[in-house]
Amino acid sequence: MKINIGSSTLELVQGDITSETTEAIVNAANSSLLGGGGVDGAIHRAGGPTILEECKKLGGCPAGVAKITTGGNLAAKYVIHTVGPIFRGGDSGEAEILRSAYRNSLRTASENGIRSLSFPSISTGAYGYPLEEASRVALAEVMTYLEEHSDIDLVRFILFGKHAYEAYEKALMSLSKEKSRKV
Ligand code: ADP
Repeated sequence: MKINIGSSTLELVQGDITSETTEAIVNAANSSLLGGGGVDGAIHRAGGPTILEECKKLGGCPAGVAKITTGGNLAAKYVIHTVGPIFRGGDSGEAEILRSAYRNSLRTASENGIRSLSFPSISTGAYGYPLEEASRVALAEVMTYLEEHSDIDLVRFILFGKHAYEAYEKALMSLSKEKSRKV
């Protein structure tokens, strides 16, 4: 599924983010930036040791913040590392931290002249954020950013598996409807 926002495109794809050809891919890292499981492990395995060498010099990354390295052996030129919230029931500021993780990743892309980037579904694996809620937060934040900034041409969400893809598709359909009602 694909929608246009101003001159930008927002696209949902089912797949594996390590084979993405956008200029940057975003990593759902942990705050040490020293590697982990899930998408983080997959990115480091596919990108090779130079990404970890660069990460070691960054001094970690608090939740909601984003940092950048090169893409090592990946097709993507850059990896933007961000850290989502650990879900603790929803009343501990998780949504705001998740919004910040997306917003700061997009800002990092803009600051580095990156025009296309791909996101995984941050926090919905080991960090336990329910997909239905996380997908709405993620998409709403990216849509707002693209409405306000024209420098990014393409944002892709690479959803790992059918279940994640369908949750994002449902959220995007409902958010687009809500927006068109407001116009
Ligand atoms: P977090 O700790 O932020 O929850 P995880 O890596 O555990 O991070 O999971 C985040 C999401 O990334 C999950 O929905 C998981 O299914 C997905 N994921 C895992 N591997 C990949 C991959 N290679 N490409 C894209 N998404 C992936």
